[in-house]
Amino acid sequence: MTPSQIVKFLDQHVIGQDDAKRQLAVAVYTHYRKIELATPGKVEIVKSNVLLIGPTGTGKTLLCETLSRVLQVPFVTANATSLAQSEYVNEEIEAILQRLIDKAEGDIGQAQRGIVFIDEIDKLKAISSQHGQTRGTSGEGVQHALLKIMEGAPVKIKDAHYIDTTQILFICGGAFVGIDDILAKTHSFGFISTSDDDNPKVLERLNTRVKPTDLFEYGLIQEFAGRLPIVAHVKPLSREMMVRIMTEPQNSIYKQYRQMLQNNDVELTIEPLVFEQIADLAMEYRVGARSLRGIFEEMLTPVMYLVPDHPEVRQVRIASLFEDPRFIGTRPAA
Ligand code: ADP
Repeated sequence: MTPSQIVKFLDQHVIGQDDAKRQLAVAVYTHYRKIELATPGKVEIVKSNVLLIGPTGTGKTLLCETLSRVLQVPFVTANATSLAQSEYVNEEIEAILQRLIDKAEGDIGQAQRGIVFIDEIDKLKAISSQHGQTRGTSGEGVQHALLKIMEGAPVKIKDAHYIDTTQILFICGGAFVGIDDILAKTHSFGFISTSDDDNPKVLERLNTRVKPTDLFEYGLIQEFAGRLPIVAHVKPLSREMMVRIMTEPQNSIYKQYRQMLQNNDVELTIEPLVFEQIADLAMEYRVGARSLRGIFEEMLTPVMYLVPDHPEVRQVRIASLFEDPRFIGTRPAA
């Protein structure tokens, strides 16, 4: 698949984040092309792992997961914070790779082309100071352990098998709160545009380019930051994007609930105002799209409770979060 075809597929599942989609598409395209064209023992593959920066709940994990689906490669996520909580970080890393093999249904060859997403990579600094003297691994220790597999070292897994990590694509994610200010201070190209333009010009892209040194403040060591040459940004979600997330993706929460109720022969209609009200609430929670499902489920609990006992109900309409759902229907003739 070409990068533009990859983006088209991502568009069906992820709302907005066009810039990140494009960068990721090019990154994975190049990555898998390199693998394809490499002659064993001849061309050395230089891996370009990716750093995905942006607020929580804005689609970082979803982007990586969707990418793995379009590429039909196994995908697992891990969390840098929990890696640091373990005294045996190398064993934890083995376990991540084992999960990748499980996802590939035991096919090591397939696992070796998988994608690993490591979240909260920006939290490692705090960990080194908090956990330094007691249990767990320091943030730096975690990075050294991760570096080995990011650089492509083979890792021993159970039954004396080895998994070759040369071709595994690592995507690290984190919120990196305040990175914009750091960029504004450390870049000399001047003004950083914060426009919503999803097609930034070259200068703007150079301006927002993260240098390894920008990441030191988050506790990332030089070698580690250097292993993440591709940096993509996801943006905070706007109210409009929240509304679209609930309704547009192939597997949107609205479509899911409509389907569930259709199975009971009930047609669910939710008026546009309701999605706006939910989006407003979600904006207040400040966890991106993460709060949408909870609010949505809360709203529909009375419906899901009543419908199974009332086969006469044919339609349910919700006009506002401040009104009870309306149940419409006549008892079908016996
Ligand atoms: P994070 O950026 O913290 O990794 P996730 O990708 O896990 O966030 O998003 C959490 C949930 O919110 C996802 O399961 C998805 O349903 C929804 N979501 C977040 N951002 C988007 C988006 N841009 N498009 C569609 N759904 C999204």
